[in-house]
Amino acid sequence: MASLISSQALAQKVVVAHRGASGYLPEHTLEAKSMAYAMGADYVEQDVVMTKDDQLIVIHDITLDRTTDVAEKFPGRARGDGRHYVIDFTLAEIRTLALSEGARLVDGKREQGFKSRFPMGKSSFRIATLAEELELVQGLNISTGRQVGIYPEIKSPEFHLAEGKDLGRAVVAELKKYGYTSKQDPIFLQTFGWEEVKRLRDEILPEAGIDLKLVQLVGDTEDYQWMFSPEGMAEVGRYADGFGPDKSLLIDPESKPGQLKVSRLVELAHANGMQVHPYTFRADEGQLEPWAESFEDMLEAFFFEADIDGAFTDFPDRAVNFLRDR
Ligand code: CA
Repeated sequence: MASLISSQALAQKVVVAHRGASGYLPEHTLEAKSMAYAMGADYVEQDVVMTKDDQLIVIHDITLDRTTDVAEKFPGRARGDGRHYVIDFTLAEIRTLALSEGARLVDGKREQGFKSRFPMGKSSFRIATLAEELELVQGLNISTGRQVGIYPEIKSPEFHLAEGKDLGRAVVAELKKYGYTSKQDPIFLQTFGWEEVKRLRDEILPEAGIDLKLVQLVGDTEDYQWMFSPEGMAEVGRYADGFGPDKSLLIDPESKPGQLKVSRLVELAHANGMQVHPYTFRADEGQLEPWAESFEDMLEAFFFEADIDGAFTDFPDRAVNFLRDR
């Protein structure tokens, strides 16, 4: 009986491909999503941002600078802070941009963020719309017979609202159009804003006549401290089906190997009916938790000591293989 229970628990643990197989191909390309799918991910993530002409595109930042050549192609279109905002460009303009592995600015020059990943500026990639990506995943579900889920994030909802665009409503309408309408469907809808999670639950989903599993994303910042008490977690559990924290909130990064300091958050989330899907598991050099000997050692601790239900990772093959072998 015990082994039956543990194998059921194991079967429920899921791998979420963070921005696709972004450890291997530029994040949020259809190529990275196809690779994640082929690697056996249970869910593929979409970060969603709105364009000037109200189109939904899949991109992590609300600006185009880190992952595209926008500064070269559209001189003079930056805002006062020097950045080029998705919301100031039409989809047709965004389609002309070359998408590439993420850069950071070092002394005014663009340098590849993760040195050992797909080389910046090589090959040819474009930004996709949310519709194109949903059609990719659904198409693969038909051609392979598998049922891989989606994990869209409403990016910076308060920024979009301040700019006169209701991103949350638009994303929900698109998901409904593509057949995601109930909590039984293979989808988690995520966002960082607590107010947005409540607005989705109380207004947007009921108005659309659908119901979806919602995930409250949680950063390691002051804004979220109120959630970490039993009362706070009970409040979050009234609105959310899932809890998506920065993984450092679950196991203290200062832990010693073999003596992990595991927080009560997973236990509290489970007690309030929420699954726990922390972010982000990366295998790049310098990205392991200080107490972990290897990427798999880190997965073992989070999945089986902290008892998480799923993990966001840039390396879905490594997590899929780890759970399979376990
Ligand atoms: Ca995300």
